[in-house]
Amino acid sequence: GESSHPRRRILLKLSGEVFGGGKVGLDTSVVRDIAEQIAATVGTVETSIVVGGGNFFRGAELSTAGMDRSRADYMGMLGTVMNCLALQDFLEQCGVDTRVQSAISMEQVAEAYIPRRAIRHMEKDRVVIFGAGAGLPYFSTDTVAAQRALEVNADEVLVGKNGVDGVYTDDPKTNPEAKKLDTLTYDDALTQNIRVMDQTAFSLCRDNNVTMRVFGMQEPGNVTRAVLGEDLGTLISV
Ligand code: UDP
Repeated sequence: GESSHPRRRILLKLSGEVFGGGKVGLDTSVVRDIAEQIAATVGTVETSIVVGGGNFFRGAELSTAGMDRSRADYMGMLGTVMNCLALQDFLEQCGVDTRVQSAISMEQVAEAYIPRRAIRHMEKDRVVIFGAGAGLPYFSTDTVAAQRALEVNADEVLVGKNGVDGVYTDDPKTNPEAKKLDTLTYDDALTQNIRVMDQTAFSLCRDNNVTMRVFGMQEPGNVTRAVLGEDLGTLISV
């Protein structure tokens, strides 16, 4: 990031799929585990988190089923806030001060998204969880992860994945020849249409020279390792 900060500062993207454990709703044992792993890094690393909401609603799917796209997207964004509150709860049970900042105002449950305040929270060892995406229909939480990382001057975007431990040359589930990549450039991610994150997220990080690390969450302790800066999964850079 531009302004200097003494400690490593990261933006962790967790998709709704992670929160749901592959189902609709919440898998609280997963959320508890993630919270414990993040708690182990507080004081060493400044952490902000963007959470997805695909475990509740995806606007594009509801729109295919006949709903107005924008309204369906707002439902998707509201779903992310429920994931935020669950993660906040388990982090606080671990003794970690946590703030949820929402891009849609809902004063009773979350602060407004105020980037400078988010930075102050992190400097005070508070974990900041960004909810409601960008507050804008037609956007994704992947894009928001890149944008928030830039605005809070994060050093790296970490992408925690279910079921895959990095970026592969092909889909490892269908192609046994697929090989895991240790590194990848944003240009290759874009031209090869790698779907780990959306293209807007890749371009934002490429154009602003922020690295992205894609890692698997199945291995116990991997969230802690990734947050602390260990070399795991796939590093995407310019
Ligand atoms: N969404 C949106 N604008 C945003 C972020 C999210 O409209 O800035 C909506 C969109 O409908 C999306 C849903 O919220 O399908 C859930 O977010 P996303 O699909 O990015 O979650 P994930 O795939 O990470 O679980």
